[in-house]
Amino acid sequence: MSRETIPAGTRTSRLLPEDIRSPVLDCSPHPMLIVDGRGNIEYANTALIRTWGLHDASHLVGGDVHRLWKQTDTVDRLLESAMTSGLATNVLDACHSLGTTFPVEIIARRLKSWQNGSVQIAFFVTCVTPEISQLQQELSESKRRLEESQEIAKIGNWELDLQQNILTWSDRVFDIFEVTPVQFGGTYEYFLDLVFPEDRDLVNSSFLDSLDKTRYYEVTHRIHTPTGKLKWVNERCKVFIDCDGQPIRCLGTVRDVTAQVETQRALQIANSQLRSIIDSHNGFVGLLDLEGRLIEINASPFKSNIANRSEVLGRALWETQWFSHHDSNQRKIKSAIQQVLGGRSLRFETTICNQANELVTHDISFEPLLDIEGNIINIATYAVDISQRKQAEVLLRESECFTRSTLDALSAEIAVLDETGIISHANRAWTEFTIACCTYWHTAPKGANYLELCRKAGAIGIKAASRLAQGIDDILEGRCTEFSVEHCCQTANGQQWFLSRGTRYPGGRRVVIVHADITSVKLAELQMEELRNQLVHASRVATMGEMAAGIAHELNQPLAAIRLYSEGGVEGISKGTLNGPELSAMLDKIAGLATRCGQVIRGLREFAMREEPRHVIIDVRDMIHEVLQFMGHECKCSGVNYSLDLGSNTQLVSANPIQLQQVLVNLIRNAIEALADHTRLGRIEICSQSTEDDRNITISVYDNGPGMSSETMSHLFDPFFTTKPSGLGMGLKISQTIVRAHGGTIHCNSEPQIGTTFTIQLPMASNVTNE
Ligand code: ADP
Repeated sequence: MSRETIPAGTRTSRLLPEDIRSPVLDCSPHPMLIVDGRGNIEYANTALIRTWGLHDASHLVGGDVHRLWKQTDTVDRLLESAMTSGLATNVLDACHSLGTTFPVEIIARRLKSWQNGSVQIAFFVTCVTPEISQLQQELSESKRRLEESQEIAKIGNWELDLQQNILTWSDRVFDIFEVTPVQFGGTYEYFLDLVFPEDRDLVNSSFLDSLDKTRYYEVTHRIHTPTGKLKWVNERCKVFIDCDGQPIRCLGTVRDVTAQVETQRALQIANSQLRSIIDSHNGFVGLLDLEGRLIEINASPFKSNIANRSEVLGRALWETQWFSHHDSNQRKIKSAIQQVLGGRSLRFETTICNQANELVTHDISFEPLLDIEGNIINIATYAVDISQRKQAEVLLRESECFTRSTLDALSAEIAVLDETGIISHANRAWTEFTIACCTYWHTAPKGANYLELCRKAGAIGIKAASRLAQGIDDILEGRCTEFSVEHCCQTANGQQWFLSRGTRYPGGRRVVIVHADITSVKLAELQMEELRNQLVHASRVATMGEMAAGIAHELNQPLAAIRLYSEGGVEGISKGTLNGPELSAMLDKIAGLATRCGQVIRGLREFAMREEPRHVIIDVRDMIHEVLQFMGHECKCSGVNYSLDLGSNTQLVSANPIQLQQVLVNLIRNAIEALADHTRLGRIEICSQSTEDDRNITISVYDNGPGMSSETMSHLFDPFFTTKPSGLGMGLKISQTIVRAHGGTIHCNSEPQIGTTFTIQLPMASNVTNE
């Protein structure tokens, strides 16, 4: 920064050269003194010598200035104050050479910067007459008031002596700049150094301009204090000129306006933020005066044409392009504003004519804005385009209507349970069933707690009810998303079966319950079961025919033995060759053989007997042994060896044993027949075991017969498919039907010239759910 901020001429031309200073000052009627920085008198003019009653100045020059006054402390303060701030005044009692005192007013002024080491202080003395004393008192009173006012207004004042470039600050200015009197440089440049660098040009040019044009100026700028703070100050300055029109001094005030500037800036930011928030609002935001005229409006209603904003400001809202399309609309808006002026807030639907000249449904609201005393000062209005929402509402209503009529058209009973298990919605079928069948536990009207009903029915032993309650709980607690329970009940229409399914309602803790009447399906299943049994029975009877030769052989041998024993016994008795014990042993043998014949016949009868279908838990290994009691013999007769590998653990399945036996009989018989014309020694291997996951039991029947062609394989389970001249072609079909009815599967692996394996897989008893 240039130090040539104050014009050089202005600063120095008024200083008197040393050699002509004494004669000039001696002409002054007022006493004057010049002392150095330590208070030693350097010069005293003639008026002072005279006023103090001294003979000449020789006694004074070089001596201590304190000797001229009574109050040495006050003199010290005066000197110190003049040194630091450049100017100080006070009233002192002067000590006359005759020993008396008289009051004088002192103006002490620093002549040069005390910092450059050659400071001088000039004392201008005015003798105080009673009138002057009075005026001084008033002056000091007025100064005191001024200072107090400045203190209250937080204004400091300063003075710049342009001739000597001496800057004088009031205490308040020191406070504002946070400078101590010791730090203070006392020149214009010192002040300029404190101005924030970016504001220096502005401050300096304003100052120079005011000197140039000798006029008042005001500038607000930033300063940085020696303590590192940034402050805003407002400076006002007046320039004084001498009789030649040259500026000689400036008087100014300085005010700390940091708080105001910061508040203003915060307000500006808040305003612009508010403006951008309102402008970014998609709808219509307007501020109205009490006449309903638009004072402010956001940008959105203008879309790209924001220039139009100023055209609508000042117009009544109902007369603007958006609301003036219809009289009734205008009346509605006008009346709304009238009601808001009565203190009410209003909200209703209206149509607004948009930029494309379309009428669009809007949700509009009016709010009174109050001042702190509760008086309405403005009206705020907001309008949002709700045409899409309205459209969506219509679609939703239509969709709800469609859903309801669809649900009502369904024959299944459907209900929705809320998170507590209460039926919140039910379709027509549910309601009708509830009315028709009001005694059954699973019928409950809308509003009833279905979950509770299921729990209560479960508590009295109805298993299906407790499974339903458990399923609903699981869905509500998020443990599963669906379940199904089959149950049967006695209704007015007779026995009915239901499949109840529970599903999690999408997007909420609710459950959809659907009861489907599966009575007809169940009856069909039962009929199927009956037919299957009939078929199995027919198949068994047919099997018996095929077994007849083997059975005849089985019976023939013990019967022939019985005949021989009987004939031997008769002969022995008639010839008397048999004694009692021999006869008794012979009769025991006959009885044993007869028992064996009886066993064969009983087995045959049991096999042929028609039994009621029933499912029981059986060990597969026992079932295999039972089958081999009568099939084993057939194997022997056919020259086929068989082996068993049944494992050591129990292999429980839930099955109809007669049906399962029939499957095994069919497979063994097919194996025997396949081996009949085969040249190799026939071998059948029967295995059973549980699967690795312990969920199923597998039974396999292997024969080392000729195997099958791929053509035969592809028709294996077709009804009436046979490659045998006298075959029926139903054995494998019946077997497959039985296995599937038991929840299992049957597969075949066959390789020509290697052999054939049929494998059955059935669920283990623990994995079977008997509904
Ligand atoms: P059927 O025994 O009356 O022919 P099946 O349904 O029991 O009827 O068998 C159908 C056909 O499957 C048989 O005709 C035979 O061709 C073939 N088949 C079944 N088991 C075997 C087997 N173990 N080895 C070779 N072929 C077999």
